[in-house]
Amino acid sequence: MFTKEKEIKTMKDFLIGMVCAVCLFVTMTFFMWVCVAGQNAMDKDLWNNGVCACGGEWEFSNASAVHKHGNSYFYFCDDCGDVIELHSPQTK
Ligand SMILES: [Zn+2]
Repeated sequence: MFTKEKEIKTMKDFLIGMVCAVCLFVTMTFFMWVCVAGQNAMDKDLWNNGVCACGGEWEFSNASAVHKHGNSYFYFCDDCGDVIELHSPQTK
């Protein structure tokens, strides 16, 4: 009797652990997705279809891998000298 109760308790602990692990995984995946989606939205805002706020066009300047989480892509505006940093390369 005692052994069976203990087994049930172990099973319960195991299941609770599994549920926690799955929840954590789902939460982390969700936050990563939100982070990437947010970055893409920011990139899109900055990029503005390749047009600078002054009306000039963004020209590709440089790519660097200084960040841990991927590359940075720099674009500059020939008209006003503005520089933007994007997280993914953009095409016009
Ligand atoms: Zn400009």
